[in-house]
Amino acid sequence: MSLVVQKYGGSSLANPDLIRNVARRVASAHDRSGQVVATVSAMGDLTDDLLKIASQVSDRPDPRELDVLLSTGELQSCALVAMALRSIGKRAVSLSGAQAGIRTDSSYGKAKISGLCPERIEQELKNNNIVIVAGFQGITEKMDITTLGRGASDLTAVALAAALKADRCEIYTDVDGIYTADPRMVPKAQKLDEIGFEEMLELASYGAKMNPRSIELGMVYNVPILVASSFEDLPGTLIHGGADMNIEVGEIRNRVRGIATEKEVAKVTVYSVVDRPGVAASLFEPLANADISVDVIVQNASVSGTTDLTFTVKSSDLDATMDVVRLVSKNLGMEDVGYSTGLAKVSIVGTGMQDSPGYAAKMFAALSEGNINIEMITTSEIRITCLVKEESTADAAKVLHEAFELDKTK
Ligand code: ASP
Ligand code: MG
Repeated sequence: MSLVVQKYGGSSLANPDLIRNVARRVASAHDRSGQVVATVSAMGDLTDDLLKIASQVSDRPDPRELDVLLSTGELQSCALVAMALRSIGKRAVSLSGAQAGIRTDSSYGKAKISGLCPERIEQELKNNNIVIVAGFQGITEKMDITTLGRGASDLTAVALAAALKADRCEIYTDVDGIYTADPRMVPKAQKLDEIGFEEMLELASYGAKMNPRSIELGMVYNVPILVASSFEDLPGTLIHGGADMNIEVGEIRNRVRGIATEKEVAKVTVYSVVDRPGVAASLFEPLANADISVDVIVQNASVSGTTDLTFTVKSSDLDATMDVVRLVSKNLGMEDVGYSTGLAKVSIVGTGMQDSPGYAAKMFAALSEGNINIEMITTSEIRITCLVKEESTADAAKVLHEAFELDKTK
């Protein structure tokens, strides 16, 4: 007998027929392996719909109340899947995040898991139940409901797999795996059979549709994650620790593994920042405290003692960012701040890029041939990211896919 943790995404649960399809899949996993814990997302676009309703009753919905509201989406799905399982003769029980023992801190909307007490799940498994856990949510020490961030049912799944020491973690979604680029933008994108945690982490952080924190957790606890379709029986993509070691001697693998794209990026500039120690810290600390993640940061060389500082945030964080930036820069005597929206990040990712020169040059050349202007650039050891206008995203992905010959990926 083995224990499988599965996750089904919102598009795989969007209507009653699909919910029954998921129930059948969970049931056959149970027939095969003996023990199944499945976590589910909210049906279809329900989370977006709930967010929209919230914005119609309040300009800035209270974060605690918003989490109570959003958590209900996943509760609906887990109850419905458990019902559907029972109707086909399986023993099943639904649990909220709180009942499943998912403890978090209290940063509403992006709470971090602080611990997992899986006793209730273990007890239900012992009672021969299939356990369906509401994804994307947990509970604070004070028993307040939290949510873990958009797309974070993936995180619930990996956390459960780690805590329960599951034999496998399987994420089922509307695509059949991880691709070299978003197939909707790049028709020639190829499905990868496997990918390493590090590469996947960069892809997921920069746009491939998976929750990056779930990959991080998988990496830390060494939980291999299978991403596959909930609609067809296809092999999917295995995300694991050893993918890069499988290159045979003499085989030359494309060192760029994939292209990530992320839209809805905003850029904020603080002009005439005084050039002395501590100024950047006094700006970024309050942003961190407000839980705003700042990305591409560029500080120009100082001319006559002042410099411009530009960074990017998610467009959805722009209002909160500007509140902080206006306040801090005013205190520092720098009142000239600006922002622009409608940007996107386009990245090339690959572990083989480290210590191999020429990737940046090739990337910039490809973008320039495609007549795409680069607004900002940032790199990690295994990634190069360019900021471009949002409307150029698909073109940029296409020219880079072509330039790095990703259509020839095996
Ligand atoms: N329903 C949540 C969202 O749409 C969580 C998830 O889908 O994983 O972000
Ligand atoms: Mg969803």
